[in-house]
Amino acid sequence: MSDRDFFDEGELVGVLTTQPLDRPLDYRAPEGGCATGAFVEVPLGPRRVLGVVWGPGEGKFDPAKIRPVTRVLDAAPMLPEMRDFLTRAADYTLTPLPAMLRLATRSPGLGDPPSMRTVLRRGGADPDRMTEARARVLDELDAFGGQAVTLSELAQAAGVTPSVVKGLVKLGAIAEEASPRDLPYPRLDPGVSPYELSDEQRTAADAIIAGVTGEVYGATLLKGVTGSGKTEVYLEAIVACLRKGRQALVLLPEIALTGEFLARVEARFGARPAEWHSGVTMTERRRAWRMVGEGGAELVVGARSALFLPFRDLGLIVVDEEHDTSYKQEDGVLYNARDMAVLRASISSAQVVLASATPSLETWVNAEAGKYARVTLTGRFGTAELPQMRAIDMRAEKLPSNRWLSDTLVAEARRRLEAGEQALFFLNRRGYAPVTVCRACGHQIGCDHCDARMVEHRFLKRLVCHQCGETKPIPNACPACGVEGRLAPVGPGVERLQEEAATLFPEARIAVLSSDLFGSARALKAQIEAIAGGEADLIIGTQLVAKGHNFPLLTLVGVVDADLGLQGSDLRAAERTFQLIRQVSGRAGRTGLPGLALIQTHQPEHPVIRAILGGDEEAFWRAQAEERRAAGVPPFGRMAGIILSSPNVQEVFDIGNRLARNAEPLQRIGAQVFGPAPAPIARVRGRHRVRLLVKADKGVALQPALARWVAQVRLPATVRLAIDIDPQSFL
Ligand code: ADP
Ligand code: ZN
Repeated sequence: MSDRDFFDEGELVGVLTTQPLDRPLDYRAPEGGCATGAFVEVPLGPRRVLGVVWGPGEGKFDPAKIRPVTRVLDAAPMLPEMRDFLTRAADYTLTPLPAMLRLATRSPGLGDPPSMRTVLRRGGADPDRMTEARARVLDELDAFGGQAVTLSELAQAAGVTPSVVKGLVKLGAIAEEASPRDLPYPRLDPGVSPYELSDEQRTAADAIIAGVTGEVYGATLLKGVTGSGKTEVYLEAIVACLRKGRQALVLLPEIALTGEFLARVEARFGARPAEWHSGVTMTERRRAWRMVGEGGAELVVGARSALFLPFRDLGLIVVDEEHDTSYKQEDGVLYNARDMAVLRASISSAQVVLASATPSLETWVNAEAGKYARVTLTGRFGTAELPQMRAIDMRAEKLPSNRWLSDTLVAEARRRLEAGEQALFFLNRRGYAPVTVCRACGHQIGCDHCDARMVEHRFLKRLVCHQCGETKPIPNACPACGVEGRLAPVGPGVERLQEEAATLFPEARIAVLSSDLFGSARALKAQIEAIAGGEADLIIGTQLVAKGHNFPLLTLVGVVDADLGLQGSDLRAAERTFQLIRQVSGRAGRTGLPGLALIQTHQPEHPVIRAILGGDEEAFWRAQAEERRAAGVPPFGRMAGIILSSPNVQEVFDIGNRLARNAEPLQRIGAQVFGPAPAPIARVRGRHRVRLLVKADKGVALQPALARWVAQVRLPATVRLAIDIDPQSFL
């Protein structure tokens, strides 16, 4: 990296653009010069593209042909540590640097000059006539909290025409306000904790605060069951960080969780932090990106991509529910936000806190090895007790077909509902039925573009492919044999479970929580708040409910099919099942009422089920770690997945075979190649998929060898190759 920090007009600078080129290009600094790290617009062929001044130019080109930078954008220059982070993240994930830069420049209107715009606030008057559309607009406006929102954004969020919003403005129910495009966020005033921290919490907080105050890098596993006060502990660390004048970032795995967290920050700090995720308006995203860069945002709460925001001085990163699989980005740039958070913290001399009740095996092993500090909260806070856990042996329950809720579970749920408490049935399957089969010929309806069966979604009245999202109407006649009226759903999804529950509990208010049932993140947030407020008796949910929501009245969790996750051949199947069932069970009995978790299973003697029930987590992780060590797989060995895809099945296998035959660069580091084999999902969106798996010892330089290896084979334009370092999913 260059130590020049400013270039005068006419000097050669190297600009890294977001275009797929393999290195920075030379330009001349514009009138007024430009700083290293400046965001600029440069000409590229006939176009103008976004870039960052990466350092001095190379000067290898014909000086007469070098064009000047078009303009310097009005944004704080990228800091050296951010450039370092992007470079190292690119090297680690074998991602081209321009693709990394794209992640770091995802601010709407990055090139726009500062200006005023009209944003909307709740007005004083109530409309004389409340229509459904008007109510929706006002609800949406409230749901945005303090976020800046424009007229068109609000109309879009509420699904109404702009004239409805304008009508409300005229009536005074909504007020217009001129506002600079990007206002700093209100200062957070830490004040004092409303709680007296327990001794255990104090010790945990102090350990992390010591690192924050020292402004040094350090990673800590903050382990504790749901309700043990992990959030309370890291809020204390955030306070220490803000007092140091440094910024803090909290990553959450699920947008729906931000509502609860924001409310808690607001209660404690008197104002809301900046938010960064897909549910945030463009206006607000732009503001967040800028203010993070200018120091006008002290605390950010967001999804994994918030790691790529241009923090001025980042002192603390919290990765909450660090084991959550959604931290792995499985599309485009394949990165694991948990690992990248550790990298970013190490570059910024920051602390990183990995919080979980059921850490990933990787993190557990790092803590065991002393690479991460570990602080543990053992109890639930106050009177809240951990739920009791019991298995229901489904072999003994003898359920008729098309029923999935055992009598034992139903009886327990009934008792809770009669006591005015809530019960939750957990089934990790969206839709109505996972399979639609023809009773005449046995044909199962599949996706036309993927190697997957279509899932019936009765709510949408369609069949949906969970791979590619393709939908089609539910046919009357079998597409294979043509016989009418014999298509039947097989197996349950949450929608079907709702049907069963509705007949068993005709009086109950039933809420289904499944990501596909909500039009927007805010609608989902609203539903979760309603449930927490007691507006449902029975909750039926997918893994969405496992993630940290606090339902005070919930005392019973029924895991409808604990065997579901055990079937996969995935190396993490046991770990995932363990985490998911422990997490979802932890939803019961959080506020003093005793909780019970009932696990429906056909194999109560399975080691994973026994570990879940026995609660000896350390033994479970130790056993899992031993298994992985013996097999030489992560975190004791290294893996990389190569996925090749093409519309032409022959072509994709040919390339795969050529790679497998030319594995010399890998053999040199002692790595092994497996495959090519059809990927478990062998066709997605009409593209045939083949995968290779590379396994290597822990200490080797895997990435450079992989890069040399794949560079040997020229890919036809029709073939795509993706490298997945540390693959989490084997689809
Ligand atoms: P976790 O993040 O581990 O799930 P939380 O920090 O959300 O746990 O704490 C669980 C509940 O206990 C919250 O409602 C919180 O307000 C309360 N709580 C945590 N610590 C204390 C404390 N020291 N005194 C009183 N209440 C506490
Ligand atoms: Zn499909």
